[in-house]
Amino acid sequence: MSASKGTALITGASSGIGAVYADRLAKRGYDLILVARNEARLKDVAARLASTTGRSITILPADLNDRAALAKVEAVLKENPAITMLVNNAGFGSAVPLLQSDIGKMVEMIDLNVTALTRLTYAVAPAFVSRGKGTIINISSIVGVAPELLNGVYGGSKAYVLAFSQSLQHELADKGVRIQAVLPGATATEFWDIAGLPHSNLPASWVMSAEAMVDASLVGLDSGEIVTIPALQDGNDWTKYEADRKVLSGKLSNVSPAPRYGVKTAEAV
Ligand code: NAP
Repeated sequence: MSASKGTALITGASSGIGAVYADRLAKRGYDLILVARNEARLKDVAARLASTTGRSITILPADLNDRAALAKVEAVLKENPAITMLVNNAGFGSAVPLLQSDIGKMVEMIDLNVTALTRLTYAVAPAFVSRGKGTIINISSIVGVAPELLNGVYGGSKAYVLAFSQSLQHELADKGVRIQAVLPGATATEFWDIAGLPHSNLPASWVMSAEAMVDASLVGLDSGEIVTIPALQDGNDWTKYEADRKVLSGKLSNVSPAPRYGVKTAEAV
């Protein structure tokens, strides 16, 4: 068994993408803390990985939409000095159009995809900064830049994850903290059943396996990518998009409205 790379806490590790992160990170030499609601499934993942990799795998069953349960996970992130990586993966989506969606469900989605992810990041980031090292992987989605593709609250929640990650990178990179936002395209998991559109309804050529998605994302992490989009075939497309966004960001404040609005201000005269 190789020396431990520290402990990775993975949310949503009971199935899909999170369970594959658990497998791959254990094989890379991380001990694990696995978080999700389904205790039986977490136990299965933990038992399998402990026996195949020999790593220390702990389960921490928690509903991250329950503030008391979330606080327990936050406390572990604050207090366990062995934690060197947080994978903010737990989330759910919807394929239902906005006005046909239940507002209670939409708020639950924001609570998990945005609020829980933010609280967990706030719990661990100061410790990573004080140690001058640590990695935070945030699972966003391609709908973070293409909100028209699925339910708009889901797209909005994933746009938040992307923007939050870019801002974290901006503020924490020089303090030794690695940030990566992962934007999966359609991935073959239970996500789609929960979203109301099983992925068997999608063209097979759109749907990646969770294994391929995670393996590509870890290569992206190793190569220092801040934003990883495994399905995007030409990485230059994202490089150009980001370069344009950064040029635009320098032009977005001005004392006067643009001439096209025809508004005269004292400053413009
Ligand atoms: P999944 O198989 O449904 O996994 C979701 C995970 O989140 C499960 O482990 C689930 O476990 C956990 N979870 C859900 N609600 C939770 C809660 N309230 N508290 C704690 N854990 C909770 O779907 P997936 O595709 O792997 O999704 C993982 C992430 O990838 C999500 O953030 C999703 O938005 C994102 N994503 C997926 C796709 C895709 O096409 N599949 C594309 C882009 C982004 P329990 O039920 O045991 O709690």
